[in-house]
Amino acid sequence: MHRIHCSQVRCLLLLFVLFMLECYFGLLVNNNATKPRKIYYLTTDKNESHHEQVYYKYPLINGEKVAMDYNIGYNSSYDWFMAMKKFFKNIGENETVRYKKNTPNCKLDTTTLGPIKVLKNKTNLEYVEEQNPHVLLGGYYAPAHCRSTYRVAVIVPYRDRKDNLAIFLRHLHPLLKKQLLEYRIFVVEQHGTEKFNKGSLYNIAFLETQRFGSWDCLVFHDVDLIPEHEGIPYSCNQHPTHMSPAVESFGYVLPYKLIFGGVTALTPQHYRLVNGYSNFYWNWGAEDDDFYGRLESRNITVSRYNSSIARYATLPHNCTKMGKERALLLMISKIRYQKEGLSTTIYRLINVTEVKLYTHIVADVNPTKMKLDMKSLMQRVLSLYGQTIVYGHKEFVLSNPAKFERI
Ligand code: UDP
Ligand code: MN
Repeated sequence: MHRIHCSQVRCLLLLFVLFMLECYFGLLVNNNATKPRKIYYLTTDKNESHHEQVYYKYPLINGEKVAMDYNIGYNSSYDWFMAMKKFFKNIGENETVRYKKNTPNCKLDTTTLGPIKVLKNKTNLEYVEEQNPHVLLGGYYAPAHCRSTYRVAVIVPYRDRKDNLAIFLRHLHPLLKKQLLEYRIFVVEQHGTEKFNKGSLYNIAFLETQRFGSWDCLVFHDVDLIPEHEGIPYSCNQHPTHMSPAVESFGYVLPYKLIFGGVTALTPQHYRLVNGYSNFYWNWGAEDDDFYGRLESRNITVSRYNSSIARYATLPHNCTKMGKERALLLMISKIRYQKEGLSTTIYRLINVTEVKLYTHIVADVNPTKMKLDMKSLMQRVLSLYGQTIVYGHKEFVLSNPAKFERI
C-alpha cells in the first residue's frame, strides 16, 4: 500500500469538510427533491428560452415539503395545478361547509334587494371587521342554514390603494352575504415597484384560487368600484358577464360597446378556454380589450345586466401610468392569444396569507427581471412565432403578420 501524499490528505480533508457542510446546510448538492424552494415558475412554453424548462416544486404545502418530478411535463400550468391538487386538499378545508344531506338549497328573495347607499368616507379595516362578524378568516363566508348555489371567488388586483380597499370590503362583504353566496375575497397584490400588470395578477389569482378548492364563478373586480344596487348578481350565468356597464366616472353610460373591464364574472371553464389574460400589458390599459378579443375569438357572447342594477360608484385614486405598447399589442391580440396568457404566466409567489377580511396573495410578476421596454416586449411577441427582429430602426414593423399562423 503506498503512502498517501500530503496533498491527497488535504484533498480528503477538504472533501470531508465539504461533506459535513453539505450535511449541515444542504448547500452543495442539488437536493431539490427535499428542499423547499421559494421560487417556482408556472410555465410550459417550450419555446421560451429565457428561463429553465423545469417545473419547480411547490415549496411547502400544509407544512409538508412536496416534491415533483422535474421530468413530468404538463400542457399548461392549470394541468400542473390539477396534478398538484391532491397536495392542496387540506388547505381551505375548514372553509368547506359540511352541509347535511337534507340542508335545503338557498333561495334568494330578490324583492329584498334594493339600492345601496355608498359611503365613500375613509374607513379602516378594524372597523370593517367589527361590522362584519360573519366573515371568517381569509374573507370567507358561507350561509349556515342553506346550501349556496354558487361558490364565488372575488378577485381584486391591488397595489397601494389601501383606502379604496377598506371601503370596498366594507360594501362587498354585507352584499355577498345578503346574496346567500359561499364566497372568498382574494386580494392579489403586485410585489415591488415595477409597472403594474393587471393581466398577470388575474392569471396568478386564477391559479392560486385553485388551492382553495373549486369555484363556480370568478368575479374580477377593480378595487375602486362599489356596487350601488344589491340586485346585481355576484355569480355566473352561462355567458361571461360584464357587470359594470353603468359606472359613475363615465356618467353611468357604457363608454363603448365592447368594454369588458371594471367588474366581470366568468366561470373558470371560460377563463381557461381563452387562456386567461395576456401577460404583456404593463401599466394602464387595453388588457381588458385584449381579453374581450379572446372571448370573441372563441365565439363566446358576453352578457350585461340592466343598468338599473348594474351600477357602480367610483372611488378616487391616483392615475396609473399609460401602457405605451397597448395599441400595438391589441392589434395582434387575436393571433397570439392561444400561445400567450394563463398557460405562460411566470411568477414568484411571495406569500399567500389569510387575513380577517380577505385572502392576501402577494406575487412578483416579473421574476426573471426581464426588461419592460418595447424592444424586449416585441422580441417576446415575435419569439412566440419563432421569429427574431433586429431592433434599432426608427420605425418598428412587424414582419409579415399574414404569415402568423391563426389558431
Ligand atoms: N390597481 C391598483 N393599483 C395600481 C393600479 C391599479 O390597485 O397602482 C388596480 C385597482 O384594483 C384598480 C384597477 O387595478 O381599480 C384598475 O386600475 P385603475 O383604477 O388605475 O384604472 P381605471 O379603471 O380607473 O382606468
Ligand atoms: Mn380606477
